[in-house]
Amino acid sequence: MGKPRAAVTCPHESFFVHGSVFKLTDTPVGPVQTYRVDVTVTCDDGCGQPFEFVGLPIGLLADQPTTSPARTELRAPIRPARPRRVRRGG
Ligand SMILES: [Zn+2]
Repeated sequence: MGKPRAAVTCPHESFFVHGSVFKLTDTPVGPVQTYRVDVTVTCDDGCGQPFEFVGLPIGLLADQPTTSPARTELRAPIRPARPRRVRRGG
């Protein structure tokens, strides 16, 4: 770590990724209906600059990934993975 460097000169070679999973319910005590993960990425190489998520709409949608207004937080619906047949040599 050490002394923070200016963003202009930072090579951004290592990263800190933070994620939180939210269980969404219809009522405060209701069963979990859906899950969402919120993810942020910042430079861990000294400057701490946040990274933006590109190409996603701003807001909060139940069925597709979005970003925060500053574009620095990914908000994505997730679910337990379903067993899938994996093709070999495909
Ligand atoms: Zn950096």
